[in-house]
Amino acid sequence: MNRKNTVRPIEAVDAPKEPPEDRKAPDPDPKPADYDVLVVGGGPAGLAAASFCGRKLLRTAVFEGDSWGGILTRWCPDKRIDNYPGVSPGILARELARHMIDDARRADVDLFEGRVEEITPDREVVSGKMRARGKMLILANGSTAAEAGILREREFAGRNGGVWYVVRDPTAFRGKEVVIVGGGESAISLVQRLSGIALRITIVHRQPAFRTQSSLPEEFEPDRGLTVLLDSTVEEILGNDRVRGVRVREHATGKVSVLPADAVVMAVGRRPNTAMFRDIGISLDESGQVRTDLWQRTNVPGILAVGDVSSHLKMIVTAVAQAAIAAHQACLDIRNPYGK
Ligand SMILES: Cc1cc2nc3c(=O)[nH]c(=O)nc-3n(C[C@H](O)[C@H](O)[C@H](O)COP(=O)(O)OP(=O)(O)OC[C@H]3O[C@@H](n4cnc5c(N)ncnc54)[C@H](O)[C@@H]3O)c2cc1C
Repeated sequence: MNRKNTVRPIEAVDAPKEPPEDRKAPDPDPKPADYDVLVVGGGPAGLAAASFCGRKLLRTAVFEGDSWGGILTRWCPDKRIDNYPGVSPGILARELARHMIDDARRADVDLFEGRVEEITPDREVVSGKMRARGKMLILANGSTAAEAGILREREFAGRNGGVWYVVRDPTAFRGKEVVIVGGGESAISLVQRLSGIALRITIVHRQPAFRTQSSLPEEFEPDRGLTVLLDSTVEEILGNDRVRGVRVREHATGKVSVLPADAVVMAVGRRPNTAMFRDIGISLDESGQVRTDLWQRTNVPGILAVGDVSSHLKMIVTAVAQAAIAAHQACLDIRNPYGK
């Protein structure tokens, strides 16, 4: 097989950002580039799927539209990962991502920086000016932070008004009063990243306990500027042009209080990125995730889905396990299409 490795340099996995011009996917050929397997999304699921396919000598390419390593580099690069077997416990998320990227490189996978804008039912993908066609397509494009549905949330979101869904640069919160809405891994991870930078952090969580495998680390004592309000809801975001505070209701007592805030960060869960698949008839389940069978096959022939876009247990290890299954299925379908 003629395998030309066009892997792009990806040095800054710990500094997720828009890919610079010179590292975008190359300009188009008149006809689409042909691959055995195309993977949409370069997070743990996509990188692992591509590595497994590459090791099976399938000609494979991955498209990543934002940050190689996905959530690991974009959301929690400094998080210590304790629940991924086979690596040193406490490995930093960005280091784990680096290993996954290196795996894909070693497997001779082509890594293209570019957002996939369109997918066709016959497995052609369009990213900027580039088009590529795969005998198999693996969807691994993850999820996006969900809206919390708080009164006036949209008014302050998206125009630098003080409502945030992704924290790329914690120093933007220096000296600020920050309210974090939510009580899962994302909320805890945000506390870790903003602690010592923000003036004060208040977590407001609807439930009486956090939804995490680990609790808040011991170093987050109240005197270090952290307040935890459990069993409470942020009902409204207050301010004129910018966020100035939040109105919070305590469930047990019904007591309403107003907290000052310069920024409100939403950490209330994630929504699978499925909008792009609407036109090609990919079937979703009742929770809006891509529906797959046990072999990660969607309802559209030749299209598989792995990781957070289709998984109910959103973990690195499940994303990677699904990637292994999908790669096996892709290999079977390509090498033995009539023997099923
Ligand atoms: C704060 C936080 C902490 C976590 N901590 C842990 C932990 O300690 N242990 C654990 O096991 N799990 C943890 N998780 C969950 C884990 O990170 C996810 O389950 C895992 O990242 C899923 O991998 P994925 O590749 O499916 O999705 P993602 O990591 O979301 O990657 C998807 C990728 O697809 C790309 N993409 C999307 N659309 C397009 C497009 N159109 N074109 C090209 N690329 C696209 C995105 O840019 C992204 O890079 C945590 C999650 C969060 C939010």
